[in-house]
Amino acid sequence: MSATNLKCRECAATYPLEARYVCEQCFGPLEVAYDHGEIAQDTAALRRRIQAGPQNIWRYSDFLPLEAPPGPSGRVLSRVGLPAGCTPLIRADRLAERLGLGEVWVKNDAHNPTHSFKDRVVAVASQRARELGFDTLACASTGNLANAVAAQAAALGLPSYVFIPSDLEEQKILATGVYGTNLVKIRGNYDDVNRLCTEISGEREGWAFVNVNMRPYYAEGSKTLAYEIAEQLGWETPDRVVAPIASGSLFTKIAKGFGEWLELGLITGDVPTMNGAQATGCSPVATAFAAGTDVCRPVKPDTIAKSLAIGNPADGPYAVELARTTDGSVDAVTDDEIREGIRLLAETTGIFTETAGGTTTATLAKLAARGDIGADERVVLVITGDGLKTLDAVRGTFESYEIDPRYDDFEAAVEQGVHA
Ligand SMILES: [Zn+2]
Repeated sequence: MSATNLKCRECAATYPLEARYVCEQCFGPLEVAYDHGEIAQDTAALRRRIQAGPQNIWRYSDFLPLEAPPGPSGRVLSRVGLPAGCTPLIRADRLAERLGLGEVWVKNDAHNPTHSFKDRVVAVASQRARELGFDTLACASTGNLANAVAAQAAALGLPSYVFIPSDLEEQKILATGVYGTNLVKIRGNYDDVNRLCTEISGEREGWAFVNVNMRPYYAEGSKTLAYEIAEQLGWETPDRVVAPIASGSLFTKIAKGFGEWLELGLITGDVPTMNGAQATGCSPVATAFAAGTDVCRPVKPDTIAKSLAIGNPADGPYAVELARTTDGSVDAVTDDEIREGIRLLAETTGIFTETAGGTTTATLAKLAARGDIGADERVVLVITGDGLKTLDAVRGTFESYEIDPRYDDFEAAVEQGVHA
């Protein structure tokens, strides 16, 4: 594999590619480092190899930290797991028009097997976990990750333990339990769940917590979003990406993905301007950005965007830095704006997203209104999850008419304006 080691993001100390996530020297987070020297010799051949790969994230295996990624021939579910990725990138002219923008594309990651981008990161983490000899999958989740881990474990035939805050949306709880996982509801918020899971991961041998002890591998899965966007745009980068920020991992890894391919000469352009989206009810990263500091002071989340409700974001400082160095921003929008964002995307594209997507769409609207986006810019809006998971967010945001099954009643309803 082209991954060479784990490297501390703070002091650059290196470690072998094991299940570790924190630097022993400085307690900084570890990240996978690569040497693409050999494959970088012939970029045309590399592009052809990617294009000939499977219609999922394993077409990007050369850029993922796996010894033997499931190749094109791997079709046995218990070996390859649920295939993630290769989700649609759709040009959204009606949304662009509504916002007074030139070119907007929607990367719809609700098309993954459990309807969120988390299938990408879980696919990578669970494959690496098996390579390292782990026999149980686990996670601390705000909902989407719970779905993804439970489903992936079912596909791979592994036992799983999923830890969630007890007040999570019912849809996300039901769509997790159905896979036959051990579902543990914690009376506390996500940060409490995460603390407990960190403790458990130190005690349980053989347990791969995808976002704790497997975190460096897990995080790499998000780069595939950037690879796909670039490939779908004809091996070019977009000018700007608007993406949600929870822990900050997705946000920073999208930029890392573009950066890696630019460095290899696989694609043309620059690392896009990165705009992060948070909910005002949990906006430690947006607050730090506005204050001109990297320090993200922990908050107690209170927002309908529960999948973004991480009060103490592990990658917050890196997200702030990335927004700043790419001339982007991190903005926060209110719960009402999030509901409006969900409606705006649905009405202009036919895509129904969950509250995180509402947050991202509302942030795009805010940037447009502020005049931050140039008329000739190509903008990608990253939609990370499905609206069916957070149905309560749209309850009461539209009207409908109930009538008797008689034509006259229908006529009367139309006159009053069925669409109100
Ligand atoms: Zn270090």
